[in-house]
Amino acid sequence: MAKPSTSTSIPAWLKDEPTTHPTPPSSSRDGFFQPPPKLQNSFHEDEAYKRVFSFYIPPPLQTDLTPDLSRFGDLVLAPTTLAQTASAELHPPYLRAFDTWGRPSNTLVTSEGWRKLQDLGIREGIVAIAYENQYGAYSRLYQFLKYHLWAPSSAGVTCPSGMTDGAARLLATQLARVDIQLDETERKVFEAAYTHLTSRDPKESWTSGQWMTERQGGSDVRNTETQATFSPSFAQGASTLDADGLPLGAWSVSGFKWFSSATDSQMTILLAKTPSGALSAYFAPMRRRIPSPPFPHATGTAGLEPDSQTETELNGITIQRLKSKLGTRPVPTAELVLSDTRAYLLGAPGQGVKIISTLLNITRIHNSIQAMGSWGRGLAISRAFTLVRKVRGRLLVDVPGHMRTLAGESVEFRGMLHLAFFCVALLGVTETTALSTQGSATSAAVAAEQLCVDTDSAPYLLRLLTPISKALTARAAIAGLAECMESLGGVGYLENEDPEFNIARLYRDANVLSIWEGTTNVMADDVVRVLKGRNGGQVVEAVKAWLDKTVGAWESMEEWRAQAAVVRIVWEEIVEKVRRSSADELKVRGRDLVGGIGWIVGAVLLGEDARRYGDEVAGEVAKRWVARRGVEGGLEEDEGRDWRVDASWDRRIVFGDGEGVGRERARL
Ligand SMILES: Cc1cc2nc3c(=O)[nH]c(=O)nc-3n(C[C@H](O)[C@H](O)[C@H](O)COP(=O)(O)OP(=O)(O)OC[C@H]3O[C@@H](n4cnc5c(N)ncnc54)[C@H](O)[C@@H]3O)c2cc1C
Repeated sequence: MAKPSTSTSIPAWLKDEPTTHPTPPSSSRDGFFQPPPKLQNSFHEDEAYKRVFSFYIPPPLQTDLTPDLSRFGDLVLAPTTLAQTASAELHPPYLRAFDTWGRPSNTLVTSEGWRKLQDLGIREGIVAIAYENQYGAYSRLYQFLKYHLWAPSSAGVTCPSGMTDGAARLLATQLARVDIQLDETERKVFEAAYTHLTSRDPKESWTSGQWMTERQGGSDVRNTETQATFSPSFAQGASTLDADGLPLGAWSVSGFKWFSSATDSQMTILLAKTPSGALSAYFAPMRRRIPSPPFPHATGTAGLEPDSQTETELNGITIQRLKSKLGTRPVPTAELVLSDTRAYLLGAPGQGVKIISTLLNITRIHNSIQAMGSWGRGLAISRAFTLVRKVRGRLLVDVPGHMRTLAGESVEFRGMLHLAFFCVALLGVTETTALSTQGSATSAAVAAEQLCVDTDSAPYLLRLLTPISKALTARAAIAGLAECMESLGGVGYLENEDPEFNIARLYRDANVLSIWEGTTNVMADDVVRVLKGRNGGQVVEAVKAWLDKTVGAWESMEEWRAQAAVVRIVWEEIVEKVRRSSADELKVRGRDLVGGIGWIVGAVLLGEDARRYGDEVAGEVAKRWVARRGVEGGLEEDEGRDWRVDASWDRRIVFGDGEGVGRERARL
């Protein structure tokens, strides 16, 4: 039997190989480490944001607002702020059902990060700016320009901010009504709540909930099962005062609310039915004073653990459980049982939907800017990554295929950002016009003229475009953030603890934006109702007048004529479709309608931006936006340009012509 060989003969092809490696192998500590991208202050870095700032804010005001927005742009990225974002994400709220001794507790516990971020937003005036009204019709723009920077770092405290803003506007509207007579107590209670909601002092300030959704439906609230009964006399020994010492309302509300996102708030606006079945809106404080005998002997009327410091308890509210969610995990979203919750009726019985729509129109605008702010952060991370990540020996910024994708996303982002901020600007004009104080009319007229609308038609445009913006920005941000994740490769998909680069978190959070405050299809349904409703004719006229003032001027300009023609064609088709179709027929294609009108608004605003300011990159962005739809209208998508020219435009679209590109060029 042959002996096994002990020496292996070296194959010929290995003869010339060195026997050792020039460098040690990679390990957890050695080898390549990706230099982290450097995230910049969006106020200075984001070209889309800068264009919107220049387009909507007149130059003297730009000078006034720049220091605050610039400082805030740094603050939202500061390690101290991001540490709170991380804390809020790592320590989601929970419900302490029982205390140590087994007594029912029903206490909501939120993280320190969440509470500190709430306070930060309040101090920075994320809601208050709109009500301080320092800049007239531009106050809303200032508020939301700030909000846009805040959204991606806020860990979702912007959710209660939106409802707080909506509730403040709703209460202000009720207080200003002349057709209903508020009694002295109601006025006092609503005024006090309004003051809390619009305060910048975290100790004084309130947030508000909004309770509409029940188990049988959030889109359709007609089947609301929560009941309200007029019951001015209180049971013996029952609490009659809220936590502030103001009288509790004469309505007793009982029922079940399936989703409540601001469970830690101090008040809420809710829907309930009167005994006749009239769906009505109510104001309710969250807490009430515990009647004597005081704690520790009292059990509290709802059998809940009293807050020993203030001797208050929830106002007939029991938190059944907190929702387990894909995203927005720091937000305490709960199911609530209401049992003799004391409340005030808002307006008249049966006006519930009408009254709460004031709040919804505000929260839908918040939703739009939340979507854009989050997506903006995702894109900023993607941009920063292109400057540090190499593939096949080249930085991503030099890989045309990668930059083409980012340029496409940037074009989409810019159009959507304009759509959202156009709504914000219209809101500012509409609210300021309604103030009818000295100076407000002038402020509104100046702001409206800048938008090429007149103050009378602004409310019609706002009514049409708010659901369109809500629907489109949410969907675009979800898709856009998925693209941003992919642009970072595998790291983009990770739940990085460092919130600065956690696009996955932004993506998870963004997914709710197309559901709450009304789903995409519900927004489409709403748009059909606007166009086929009582004021449908005026709405169509308002859009037409706006197009005449904007696109109408393009028609005499050689380089803009083709774009103008496509916009006109698409609009005429929409008008024709609306005219010929029944509401039911139109609803089947509701999303197409929303997409078409949103595209028109983006095309007009991007075009106006480029035309007015002569910005070359803005011009290219506008052309690309129009060209996508223009293929249907007869415009060539690709003008037959050399791909290298397109690639250089792609880079300019992504980074702009400003500092970003300069820095990048200097470095390369
Ligand atoms: C995290 C989170 C927090 C929330 N916070 C709150 C809160 O604080 N307060 C509150 O009141 N609600 C809150 N909601 C509830 C939210 O507003 C509702 O879930 C939403 O409005 C949809 O209602 P629904 O779940 O009952 O679904 P449904 O209304 O049953 O809708 C189901 C489907 O039907 C479609 N649909 C409904 N109507 C139409 C129509 N007319 N045309 C075409 N399609 C239609 C919808 O698009 C959807 O796809 C929250 C939800 C989530 C996920």
